Amino acid sequence: MERYAPKLMELAPRDMVSRAMYQEIRAGRGIGGKDYLYLDVRHLGRKVIEEKLPDITDFARIYQGVEPLTEPVPVQPTAHYAMGGIPTNVSAEVVRDEKNTVVPGLFAAGECACVSVHGANRLGTNSLVDLLVFGRRAGRQMARYAGTVERPQPIADATVPVHAQLEAIRSRESKGESVAKIRHELADVMMDNVGVYRDGKLLTAALTKVRELKERNGAVSIGDCGAVFNTDLLEANEMGYLLDLAEVTVVGALARTESRGAHSREDFPERNDARWLKHTLAYQGPKGPTLKYKPVSITRFEPKPRTY
Ligand SMILES: Cc1cc2nc3c(=O)[nH]c(=O)nc-3n(C[C@H](O)[C@H](O)[C@H](O)COP(=O)(O)OP(=O)(O)OC[C@H]3O[C@@H](n4cnc5c(N)ncnc54)[C@H](O)[C@@H]3O)c2cc1C
Repeated sequence: MERYAPKLMELAPRDMVSRAMYQEIRAGRGIGGKDYLYLDVRHLGRKVIEEKLPDITDFARIYQGVEPLTEPVPVQPTAHYAMGGIPTNVSAEVVRDEKNTVVPGLFAAGECACVSVHGANRLGTNSLVDLLVFGRRAGRQMARYAGTVERPQPIADATVPVHAQLEAIRSRESKGESVAKIRHELADVMMDNVGVYRDGKLLTAALTKVRELKERNGAVSIGDCGAVFNTDLLEANEMGYLLDLAEVTVVGALARTESRGAHSREDFPERNDARWLKHTLAYQGPKGPTLKYKPVSITRFEPKPRTY
């Protein structure tokens, strides 16, 4: 990390550490020329490791069969949080447009939501803000809201389209592709083309691939056609949502011709506040997502170059 963040070293923000790891791997300095590096915690000693790092060291033992007390742990960058999400105001009410028009009665909080405290890069530990502060605000606002409105009549046929969607998958007779195959291909293209580093060519190829997968996903068949606790069916249904989100992510990233936070484009390496200091809003339509933008609300802290 001396090369990349000489002051903070490995305590630099995670997007920077990820980029540094990626560059080292790309330069052929991965362990044995492969696509991972070693994280060595042995110098910390048993007491510190057991007291302060119990979870992460257990992951290494369980999933990699590596003992961090005596061996270095193989690591590589991966996705572990979704910046952005369902746009909300500070009371966790979902908003639908650049004027922050509230969708009455719909609330979101947590990682699925974007109340926008993190900007383009959530810093370590800050998910707690989403959960503790905005989860609480959501609960309070929901209680207030419920006190101001009449109990609505349930929409009688609300389940009809959902049943139809599930039934279409369950009753499909042809022996189509498996959901797992589509999911693996989606994971690969999102990791390789929409990951730590992006560029216009990679993103365009990813969009073509995601749209091809959407097409193929329309014909997947499942092994279990039962009507009770059918996890195959659930996975097949959720695959469609994953593909929608992947498409939104790629379309948003392709349009944003700059680098900001964890969005790092090699063809546009600089942050461009004049053009891009704004939120992307994506609207799903029959031909895929269309984009709009809304201004960023800046109060006490002005954006400035990140130097570590
Ligand atoms: C490896 C890793 C390490 C992390 N480390 C940190 C850290 O150190 N500090 C930090 O602040 N954050 C960390 N995060 C991020 C943080 O854990 C998450 O942002 C946070 O847990 C999100 O909480 P949530 O309640 O919003 O969502 P989740 O915890 O994802 O909860 C969503 C729940 O909804 C359920 N669900 C999904 N679909 C349906 C459905 N259709 N019907 C009913 N239920 C459904 C899911 O099963 C799940 O239980 C880490 C994340 C990862 C992956």
